[in-house]
Amino acid sequence: MTAGSHDVRGSLSLPWTHVDDHFVDGTWRRSTGSARTDVVDPATEEVWGSVPDATTDDVEAAMAAADRAFRTGPWPRMAPSERAEVLLRFAEELEARAVPLAHTNTRENGSPVAETVGAAANAASILRYFAGLAGHLELPDVRPFPAGGAESVVRRDPVGPCVLIAPWNFPINLVVIKLAPALLAGCTVVIKPASPTPLSIRFVVEAAVAAGVPDGVINLVTGSGAVGDALVRHPLTAKVAFTGSTPVGRKIAAACGELLRPVTLELGGKSSAIVLPDADLAELARVLIRSCMRNTGQTCYISTRILAPASRYDEVVDLVTSTIAAARQGDPFDPETVFGPMASKAQYDVVLSYLESGRAEGARVTTGGRPASGSGWFIEPTVFADVTPSMRIAREEIFGPVICVLRYDDLDEAIALANNTEFGLGGLVFSRSPEAAMEVAERMDTGSVGINFFGSNHAAPFGGRHDSGLGVEYGLEGLAAYLTWKSIHRRA
Ligand code: NDP
Repeated sequence: MTAGSHDVRGSLSLPWTHVDDHFVDGTWRRSTGSARTDVVDPATEEVWGSVPDATTDDVEAAMAAADRAFRTGPWPRMAPSERAEVLLRFAEELEARAVPLAHTNTRENGSPVAETVGAAANAASILRYFAGLAGHLELPDVRPFPAGGAESVVRRDPVGPCVLIAPWNFPINLVVIKLAPALLAGCTVVIKPASPTPLSIRFVVEAAVAAGVPDGVINLVTGSGAVGDALVRHPLTAKVAFTGSTPVGRKIAAACGELLRPVTLELGGKSSAIVLPDADLAELARVLIRSCMRNTGQTCYISTRILAPASRYDEVVDLVTSTIAAARQGDPFDPETVFGPMASKAQYDVVLSYLESGRAEGARVTTGGRPASGSGWFIEPTVFADVTPSMRIAREEIFGPVICVLRYDDLDEAIALANNTEFGLGGLVFSRSPEAAMEVAERMDTGSVGINFFGSNHAAPFGGRHDSGLGVEYGLEGLAAYLTWKSIHRRA
């Protein structure tokens, strides 16, 4: 482990380490198989937990429970405002578990506690936001025929049992942004967390039960991508919500296309921050880590390509370099830590290969550029200058603490550089001029753009264009993904 060690592991008392059950139909049920997956602390490489891999029978049981709860249980039949009451209690129960949840999450994926300590509160605020949309579902919607004489009652029905599949980088948030609208809509769910992060999500399940979510409405199975695939293709699945990599997203989209099954996909990104010549660089420095390197670079929407005007290129490189070099890397349990380890050995190897590729293609390392010494999958936060658009590090998602700084001569070139990617998820523009910034933001071909900062707003749709995904989460638009419409026509 690197500098800043603050090893509190010895004193941690986490409720779940080695477990042998899945959550099915309101109870923790022993897995019917014997295969298991280890949970490894990426800061120490220590195996500290393990979970069962769901068998075909476990998947069947979970899907059957979700289907039964949907067809015959109380949840879809409750008024949206009654479900919203449960979501509000769920939010409180989750907040009450914030500390052990954060510690479990940090131990699973090495996200610094400074990040994970807010996970429960953030999830609670998502639950509260969607609870606040209950009134929208209760508004009568009756539409006259344009020619007169008749009208249609438009119903928004829950779509059915949903499969929610999450990645390891934000294992709580990326489930709850699916779970909250699904529950408000009246759906039931089966959750499949990522293999590196199968334990922290149990706090979400436990909080939901304590809040009174009925049996069978939330089910949780652990296991590999094969378990995810079985859930996606299961005949009782009515909708799939997935966050993860673009290659796996394509496979899920293909399966759902074949099955004519609704699917939302939140995938990878390679977003750009365009620094306009009039930008306040102090502003860039203030938000750089959160907006361009959040969670040790393991965040989908961050802008890891900084596009700097030639007139200020050296200034931007110096500022980015000094800001990144000053941020503390070390034990993710130290509250002062900004950069933790890579979440897994696989991710560590991927990021190292990009460091090699960047050097081989002629980019200049201005800070970092190596694995950190000691145990754990730490890679020094790295800035590459003199990056050109054709380099792999400029084109491919690295998903690690690596920023590339590219040079542009005029605005059209900057926008073309930003848009010259297969992805289209996030983006940033830095300028002192609100008008100039808005014009650039409008020209960026992505699902979200931040002006002088990036944040996610639960009330605004979030999603990617092109290889970054299909559909959106958050907002009324995110709720719509869990609804199906029915028009009942009658004589007026
Ligand atoms: P993966 O795509 O590898 O895995 C995501 C989830 O899908 C995991 O639960 C995984 O299980 C499961 N899975 C794997 N194969 C299949 C399959 N064939 N069918 C169904 N499920 C499957 O992504 P990572 O976990 O590695 O996450 C990193 C990626 O997620 C990055 O590319 C990142 O950009 C993207 N991401 C996108 C976000 C967004 O909102 N757009 C937000 C955060 C991350 P298992 O872990 O067991 O393999």
